[in-house]
Amino acid sequence: MKNCLTASRSLAFRGRILYRVNRNMGERQLHPLSTDTTTVDLRSDTITTPTQEMYDAMISSPVGDDVFKEDPTVTKLQEKCAKLFGKDAALFVPSGTMGNLISVMAHCQTRLLEAIVGSQSHILLYEVGGLSHFGGVQLRPVLNKADGTFDLDEVSNMIRDEGDIHQPNTALICLENTHNKCGGRVLPISFLQQVKELTKKHDLKCHMDGARLLNAAVYMDREPADILQYVDSVNLCFSKGLSCPVGSIIAGTHDFIARARWLRKALGGGMRQIGVLAGPAIVGLDTIYPKLYLDHQRTKQIATAIHENSNGVVEVDLDGVQTNILMVHMKKTDFDADMFCDRLAKVTEDERQLLEEDICILGLPFSNKTVRLVLHHNINQNQVDKTIKKLKYVIKEMADKK
Ligand SMILES: *Cc1c(COP(=O)(O)O)cnc(C)c1O
Repeated sequence: MKNCLTASRSLAFRGRILYRVNRNMGERQLHPLSTDTTTVDLRSDTITTPTQEMYDAMISSPVGDDVFKEDPTVTKLQEKCAKLFGKDAALFVPSGTMGNLISVMAHCQTRLLEAIVGSQSHILLYEVGGLSHFGGVQLRPVLNKADGTFDLDEVSNMIRDEGDIHQPNTALICLENTHNKCGGRVLPISFLQQVKELTKKHDLKCHMDGARLLNAAVYMDREPADILQYVDSVNLCFSKGLSCPVGSIIAGTHDFIARARWLRKALGGGMRQIGVLAGPAIVGLDTIYPKLYLDHQRTKQIATAIHENSNGVVEVDLDGVQTNILMVHMKKTDFDADMFCDRLAKVTEDERQLLEEDICILGLPFSNKTVRLVLHHNINQNQVDKTIKKLKYVIKEMADKK
């Protein structure tokens, strides 16, 4: 028997959740899919594959030993990013998780410090608590609002200065832009300005987890440097919407990057002939970044279709859909996120008759009642049209099961 999720077995992405989906799939009697099945994988923008131009860059980029700072392609990428971000310098790192880990550690140089982070932030929830294990930094959460911001009066009250031996000192505030768990929301400039005032007043630093910063820049139609003038450091992922296989970059002052380079080596992230990875990253910036707006348009199309056909079964916050991430909330008590994903990934006989084709959609259960769909470079307009067709059918079927 064939099912759409078989391919996902080999993908280690959010393994626990996928295991659950796969297990559910296994328990059900599925109709074998026809050979011309269209599978639209909207689980994540991390599944994007390198473009031909990226493969070409892997072969043709000059390389050297980057631990000796002798890889010309890495140097080119770092200089390009420093300029794009309006920062002194940048450093290529293996992953976004390591980029955030290094950045926070570089800002929090002594013991007895804490960093204030959003309660829904990737740093707090999805980085294995690395900062407490390896960095000796306490992460102190402040409640995230639905738009990815938080109450700055609350933050102001949380900040702890020297003097009380019961408390660590607050050294850093971390932001996430776009905000993954808040559905790809873009932080408003007014919020960034207020954060900047607060950090200045209390002599704190600010780090932005900008794994999807370029999606924010595209949404705002601003240069990344415009957004980053309010923060001390940033982390950007190449392996998400930019379609590269590996890599992230962090940026900040010369001092920050010098320290980050030292920390990267300590954490085992010093790499050698990685022009083969930096080359594709340059291609991502030059060729995929200008196309990110398409992912945003398509996300909005799908969100609008769900909104207009929601039938009281599902709900999307249409105004909140700004970039390439769409959160679909289950409204009926007898349907949860696992069941919705499970149903979207299979094809029934009735459905095949009516739609006259087999369409499987892969989404990610993000919580009990929320499914995340993410648009990316590997999804074209035709697949978006099929996604909408399938979603309408499944939502109606769910509504009819009253
Ligand atoms: C993906 C991501 C990261 C980094 O994750 P890696 O898998 O280590 O690259 C950090 N923050 C956010 C918001 C992300 O989406």
